[in-house]
Amino acid sequence: MPLVSMRQLLDEAAKGGYGVGAFNVNNMEQIQAIMEAARDTKSPVIIQASRGARAYSQDLFLYHLMLAASGLYPEIPLVMHLDHGNSFETCKSAIDLGFTSVMMDGSLKEDGKTPATFEENVAVTKAVVDLAHKHGVTVEGEIGVLGGIEDGHGAGGSGLEHVTDPAQAVEFVARTGVDALAIAIGTSHGAYKFSSKPDGSVLKMDVLMEIHKRLPNVHLVMHGSSSVPKDLQDVINQYGGKLKPTWGVPVEEIQLGIRNGVRKINVDTDNRLAITGAIRKVFTETPEKFDPRDYMKPARDAMKKVVAQRMTQFGQAGHAGDYAPISIEEMKKRYAAQAATAK
Ligand SMILES: [Zn+2]
Repeated sequence: MPLVSMRQLLDEAAKGGYGVGAFNVNNMEQIQAIMEAARDTKSPVIIQASRGARAYSQDLFLYHLMLAASGLYPEIPLVMHLDHGNSFETCKSAIDLGFTSVMMDGSLKEDGKTPATFEENVAVTKAVVDLAHKHGVTVEGEIGVLGGIEDGHGAGGSGLEHVTDPAQAVEFVARTGVDALAIAIGTSHGAYKFSSKPDGSVLKMDVLMEIHKRLPNVHLVMHGSSSVPKDLQDVINQYGGKLKPTWGVPVEEIQLGIRNGVRKINVDTDNRLAITGAIRKVFTETPEKFDPRDYMKPARDAMKKVVAQRMTQFGQAGHAGDYAPISIEEMKKRYAAQAATAK
């Protein structure tokens, strides 16, 4: 199956009332873990690469690994998405390479740290939408600013400084034409999201519900949505790691989000924890081993387990065969027709 449009994947998720996990990758083993989990659970998938991942693995390696994945798992609808594009040029380079979806994160300036103004965000996002839609590529925008820093990207803070204003979200979607919208409701990137189990005072689910009420047809995206489960932290610490106690976003809160318009859920930290725990275990229990496969294989299996669990929890499991993929060529025509009616 060729790489498919994220717009179609999320439209189908909305029809089916489920969410789709978007999992970050840097290498072959992570892609394999996700695809195996998708096959086992019969799930459509979004695989995403950040700027840091593209720099780490190099674009061509990443792109051809994705093509290999779509060739080896022809029954799985697969989206290749750019996570947190910081500029028009970054998004353009991803579109030129063959990504079928890009995120233009105009909530921050190009440095990926300083919050941008609303007008700056609208201008750069609109420019990316115009280009991407000409190529049949989906666009995710962001309004409001998430907390935390990951791979040098992020404004820092707790995530509550720039919670999305629902009225601004409505104006943003109308002026940019984005297909999906990341909102800030108190979540943060990285492992250290909350210092206690999050409740209504830190996770603004009421804001999410209000945005969904005003934009019922926009696919909402939750970033920084790893659950950071204690058992994964424990494995790391049991085998010599030194993680401080931390809490992520409870799966029940994500499921509440899914019932209120969330269609894409970004998960990275949980997979990182699973991989590192598995490797530490092998190193500690069998220090005589030195073949990378001896620890990469358990690492891949550990990540696969977490991904399969999330696919089931988000509801995407069982939906891989629901629909035939629309070609990117067809998506170009649809966007062109949409633009013509808008004029
Ligand atoms: Zn993010």
